[in-house]
Amino acid sequence: MIDKILIANRGEIALRILRACRELGIKTVAAHSEADRDLKHVRLADESVCIGPAASTDSYLNVPAVLSAAEVTDAVAIHPGYGFLSENADFAERVEESGFIFIGPRAETIRMMGDKVEAIKAMKAAGVPCVPGSDGPLGDDEKENIRLAREIGFPVIIKAAGGGGGRGMRVVHSEAALINAITLTKAEAGAAFNNDMVYMEKFLETPRHIEIQVLADEHGSAVHLGERDCSMQRRHQKVIEEAPAPGITREMRKRIGERCAQACVDIGYRGAGTFEFLYQDGEFYFIEMNTRIQVEHPVTELVTGVDIVKEQIRIASGEALSAQQSDIIIRGHAIECRINAEDARTFLPSPGTITAYHTPGGPGIRVDSHIYDGYTVPPYYDSMIGKLITYGDSRQAAIARMRIALSEIVIEGIKTNIALHQELMRDAAFEAGGTNIHYLEKKLAESQ
Ligand code: ADP
Repeated sequence: MIDKILIANRGEIALRILRACRELGIKTVAAHSEADRDLKHVRLADESVCIGPAASTDSYLNVPAVLSAAEVTDAVAIHPGYGFLSENADFAERVEESGFIFIGPRAETIRMMGDKVEAIKAMKAAGVPCVPGSDGPLGDDEKENIRLAREIGFPVIIKAAGGGGGRGMRVVHSEAALINAITLTKAEAGAAFNNDMVYMEKFLETPRHIEIQVLADEHGSAVHLGERDCSMQRRHQKVIEEAPAPGITREMRKRIGERCAQACVDIGYRGAGTFEFLYQDGEFYFIEMNTRIQVEHPVTELVTGVDIVKEQIRIASGEALSAQQSDIIIRGHAIECRINAEDARTFLPSPGTITAYHTPGGPGIRVDSHIYDGYTVPPYYDSMIGKLITYGDSRQAAIARMRIALSEIVIEGIKTNIALHQELMRDAAFEAGGTNIHYLEKKLAESQ
């Protein structure tokens, strides 16, 4: 087993990784920015190294600084968490070239999944259902592009192969707007992603976001851990996630899950990963794969009993998966609310010092957060300060516990979105389950 891990991240996920290392008896190195000296995991880690100034480009995204921190501390492996360098294929490559283990997939897998045209090609070959589309990049032949759009049927969406974070996409409702939209998206993609390749997909109007968690080892085994529903989104950011997804039957889960696990075997996937789908009218449509741990992994952990971060570390150590597909049973229901340091109405970030903090507790409550009394939330990074996760025998029981937990939690000194979560836990459509990805934005717009 790896005996020392450098954690190249911050906040709640850095603490989550630290806790997994401690359970496994692995020594930890916290690589942090100048603004993050007081982070909880920095204080708890065996060693810590400051890798640069507050700005993430100078610290958490600074590849030479991260590598030298690993060198001076004799770390064996680097865990990138999510965001920052976690899906940077060049970084993964340099980590391995420098003699460290990258806790994640091989660099070439990350690179392939980062190119959406390539990713879709690989998924189609593996039998994963994809959105009807151009099956490759769009050329310059206007007539051909119009013919393609007609065949797919309007509305269509033009997407950049190198896009990410909800950028580089344009919905087209009519033939008249098509050619101009392709030209514009190409130009934007060239400027933003240094790659002007674009492709076309059918635009699904009322989909849900459902994703499948997978784990794959180096020995050719892969399992799926069922699905999560992450349809409650604002500006493409997930706000609430849950597992399992309302209305997805055991048969549907088995069918789509096994396809994903098999795709992992086919492409030689290694580690934890997520297949993201749009789900509409009973059909799954692959949109992209995330080649890292995700924010919402705890809901899957609670319903399967699998510790995904520990599995990532075991897989990186070369061990075989600790469970076979038949060992994985989905039990009960889990919900996660992302707690952000922001105004619950205007969504403006609210950094500052936490003057009082009380966490909720009791059966079925999990709090993944790095904050503490007196901690100052810096203004430089993402506003998420923690995740409140509840578990119950049923969805209704998990919601009931979430309502109680939200009424017990106290965070003073900064603004948070707790009031929004309280409102959503009383929302009739959320309670019914199965709302689509536009529901939250519409609700917020109506209440303005
Ligand atoms: P990114 O990498 O930028 O997150 P995705 O391909 O995951 O890009 O798409 C982001 C979001 O854009 C999806 O969650 C969905 O809301 C919307 N979207 C993407 N493709 C489609 C489509 N074919 N139909 C409808 N919405 C889409």
